Amino acid sequence: MRYDESAEKSAEFLRLALPLMARQRAATHPVSYALWYEYVSGANAGLRDAVDACLKAQGSLDEESTLALYRKHIAEIDEELARQLSAGFQKVMTDVSLSATQAGDRASRFGDSLGRLSAGLKPANAGDGIKSILALTRDMQDSIVALKNQLDESRGEIEQLRKEVTRARTEACTDGLTGLMNRRGFEMTMATCLASHGGADAGPCLLMLDIDHFKKVNDSYGHVFGDKVLRAVAQILHDNVKGKDTAARYGGEEFIVLLPDTPLEGARQLAERIRGVVERCRIKRSTDQGAVANIMVSLGVTNFRSGEAVADFVARADAALYVSKSTGRNRVTVATD
Ligand code: GH3
Ligand code: MG
Ligand code: MG
Repeated sequence: MRYDESAEKSAEFLRLALPLMARQRAATHPVSYALWYEYVSGANAGLRDAVDACLKAQGSLDEESTLALYRKHIAEIDEELARQLSAGFQKVMTDVSLSATQAGDRASRFGDSLGRLSAGLKPANAGDGIKSILALTRDMQDSIVALKNQLDESRGEIEQLRKEVTRARTEACTDGLTGLMNRRGFEMTMATCLASHGGADAGPCLLMLDIDHFKKVNDSYGHVFGDKVLRAVAQILHDNVKGKDTAARYGGEEFIVLLPDTPLEGARQLAERIRGVVERCRIKRSTDQGAVANIMVSLGVTNFRSGEAVADFVARADAALYVSKSTGRNRVTVATD
């Protein structure tokens, strides 16, 4: 467990953290509490320095910087630690298993030599001593083999656990209905992408997509069909987004696509292609009820501007999407300067 302070100590941290937390622009939710708790505890020096630098630069912490600091100095440390522990443990198990194999081989060679030696001796000379040494050697060989098998089994279990952790992590970033990445996963992917990009001419670009009059689809054909439409749009995005590009369900009937290395014109063309494919698709209601046409989407497209906050990048794509909505829907708008 990350926090092992006594009840008294943690109450003291609470008293210290509350006034600091209340002074920030970010709301007082569990993420900001974790941040300020670790800050006052003094146990996380990297976090403390980063918070101090941030306060110096911007006076108080807003939502975005609170979340970014939390991710970098609290959430990631746990993930990194888990990864290192798992890798370290694997190595120890592999080393021990290898040593056991080598010891087993040596014992086996020793046993063979003794066997040959005793066979060469006349029965009269092959004393009880050698027989008992042979029996002991076989015992030793057997127990080394058993140890090796046990170690191999443990190694398998650790590997299984590691896969389980990876699977749980993937699941936490996946949208259950469509199978696309969810907003949480997308935000992490985007943060990594933007951290390594200076805002070059060739991207990153963002596409924001919202299904037009989706409420009417639900009202006319029911939620189950509405879900089918969401899956169909997700599939179109999935089929049209390749390589380093990431498509995600951003929430409700809204989707987002990050194109790390695509220039703005390329992003606009992709948005237009997606819009067209959705417009032409026919989604079957059920085997006997025919298909529903006229599913349409509006999109907003923008490119990243060097040094800007992630929230501004997303807000510009969203504003462009809003222009598509307010000027008739079923269209693509590119944000201009
Ligand atoms: P607009 O063209 O302006 O985007 O109109 P709209 O009707 O698409 O937008 P609005 O925000 O009014 O309604 C969105 C609807 O999406 C309402 C909500 O019930 C529905 N919705 C959100 N998530 C899901 C979901 O997972 N499944 C289904 N079936 N519907 C959903
Ligand atoms: Mg909509
Ligand atoms: Mg919407």
